[in-house]
Amino acid sequence: MRDSERVDIQENINLQPYNTLAVPAKAQHYAEVTDVSQLPALRQFARDRNLPLLILGGGSNVVLREDFPGLVLHMRMTGKTLVQEDRHHVWLRVAAGENWHELVEYCLANEYWGLENLSLIPGSVGAAPIQNIGAYGVELKDVFSELEAMDVVTGEVHRFDKDACEFGYRDSLFKRAGKDRYIILSVTLKLSRQPHLKVTYPALKEAVGAIPMAELTPVAVSEAVCRIRRSKLPDPADIPNVGSFFKNPLVGLDQFLELQVRHPGLVSYPVDARHVKLAAGWLIERAGWKGVARGPVAVHAHQALVLTNPGRAPGGEVLALAEEIRHSIAAEYGVDLEPEPRVYP
Ligand code: FAD
Ligand code: NAP
Repeated sequence: MRDSERVDIQENINLQPYNTLAVPAKAQHYAEVTDVSQLPALRQFARDRNLPLLILGGGSNVVLREDFPGLVLHMRMTGKTLVQEDRHHVWLRVAAGENWHELVEYCLANEYWGLENLSLIPGSVGAAPIQNIGAYGVELKDVFSELEAMDVVTGEVHRFDKDACEFGYRDSLFKRAGKDRYIILSVTLKLSRQPHLKVTYPALKEAVGAIPMAELTPVAVSEAVCRIRRSKLPDPADIPNVGSFFKNPLVGLDQFLELQVRHPGLVSYPVDARHVKLAAGWLIERAGWKGVARGPVAVHAHQALVLTNPGRAPGGEVLALAEEIRHSIAAEYGVDLEPEPRVYP
């Protein structure tokens, strides 16, 4: 056995440092995965004992309801490879355990453009396809080429191109039919050698407003995104959170028109001829939740879409607050809010 294939499986590991909500839950078994060659042995360990797997990246989009009665695989594989290039694009394959924002910085330094609006999103590269991460009008799918993933049932490694991933709004195959079925090993991005800047979101437009369009660079856009995010979003290192707790709901046109009459000022964005996206943060704020605390958990005072866990309480307490908010929004607006983070076990 090569050194890289050796696996170290630990018992009863506290996952509090490994989830950004700082929930104190334990993993019955826990292993850091630093090389793909360790996966067959880890998979076998879980199969022999009939243990469920939890694939963990940066822990910034999970709620651990209670202790995890299985094997947690903490994805820590690193590495970036330039697999192809032409005059207009580069194709960069990145290992799942790389940190997303460090990748954004690496791309900016190398003049590989396309990730600037996705600056400062916490978490790992391997998790980015799971919900097709998005911010300021750009989504992973806009720069995605393909990914490699191991099927946890068969152990086979498959390639998924963009169509196969079935990307949607904060959604993909890996949240639906492929849920918990695949371990994403690497993601290949197709990045541009020429900048194509997108500054349509009002906050971003305003932040770069002083810079004439001809002088605007991807680095300036990334810096503006980082500035806005730092001013609005709690840093999980100070105030534990998982970012937006709910997805923005899509509603039909009829329901939208009805809501607009009852709630003047309703914030909305057209999606297609029949659907409109509502700003979940606006609904929650208008329902009076902004800044509300329930013991150790709270609704963030600057952004009502973010639930925080300053008291480092168990996941159940965060979920109880989320449920209260969900009921309140359903009662007030007839809209069902869908939580964005994944809940385990
Ligand atoms: P984890 O929380 O570790 O895992 C999330 C899910 O992905 C789990 O189901 C897990 O099993 C699965 N998973 C993780 N890695 C793998 C893998 N290698 N193979 C298979 N499955 C895997 N999200 C956005 O889209 N846009 C934002 O702007 C944004 N802003 C945020 C801001 C803050 C302050 C925070 C705390 C979160 C924010 N998020 C945002 C949510 C989160 O950062 C992203 O969803 C991120 O991609 C999660 O990465 P992670 O490595 O932490 O995933
Ligand atoms: P914001 O800019 O205050 O906008 C509020 C909401 O309106 C956002 O949810 C956004 O939808 C929507 N929106 C704004 N301008 C839009 C436009 N021109 N077209 C379509 N939709 C528009 O939002 P924010 O809370 O400060 O977040 C900024 C960006 O970072 C958003 O894209 C948000 O999704 C992302 N973010 C995500 C998380 C997370 O955990 N998922 C956490 C923090 C920030 P979208 O959300 O669909 O973009």
